[in-house]
Amino acid sequence: MKQGKLIVFSAPSGSGKTTIVRHLLKQQELDLEFSISATSRAKRGEEVHGKDYYFLSFEDFKKKIKNDEFLEWEEVYRDNFYGTLKTEVERIWAKGKHVIFDIDVSGGLRIKRKFPEETLAIFVKPPSIDELKIRLKKRKTESDDKINMRIAKASAELATAPLFDKIVVNDDLDKALDEAYKLVSNYLGIDKK
Ligand code: 5GP
Repeated sequence: MKQGKLIVFSAPSGSGKTTIVRHLLKQQELDLEFSISATSRAKRGEEVHGKDYYFLSFEDFKKKIKNDEFLEWEEVYRDNFYGTLKTEVERIWAKGKHVIFDIDVSGGLRIKRKFPEETLAIFVKPPSIDELKIRLKKRKTESDDKINMRIAKASAELATAPLFDKIVVNDDLDKALDEAYKLVSNYLGIDKK
């Protein structure tokens, strides 16, 4: 099997990393494919099983942990488990593509530790905690309680930024998209379009 690279994007919830990852996935010359995580949390809005996540029951998730089927997993929020299945990376590498991850800070660092030579780990930094709060409120996908939980976690996550290979500050989205593109294309050795 040809081994591709692993491109990790980690950030506090609401930093805009999902927007950056989606943008990079559209750039065909990068040959990226999204690592679909497994999660035990409930489906939100328009999310589709097998596209956004593999939605598993809590019991199934636990079973897969026991069977050592995860490359990494985390209880990102209380009772909400998220993880990368080993089969996901194998599936994407088998297609000759590179894997792009949208995962939490601990998961991202774990992947970097497991595959130090093959991983580019990028931390997306929100301009400030206040701005993060505004973005999460605007998104209207979580209750106030959940938003407060995400904000509390964000402060701890921000402290891990220096452990990543690169940091992209997302205060101006166009600039952040451009910078992320440059970092990834340089790492993969691809010339600008
Ligand atoms: P959300 O519930 O908003 O979709 O995701 C919550 C958090 O879980 C986000 O920070 C997201 O990046 C993270 N996450 C998603 N998939 C994974 C995964 O496979 N592993 C880890 N460690 N975190 C994940």
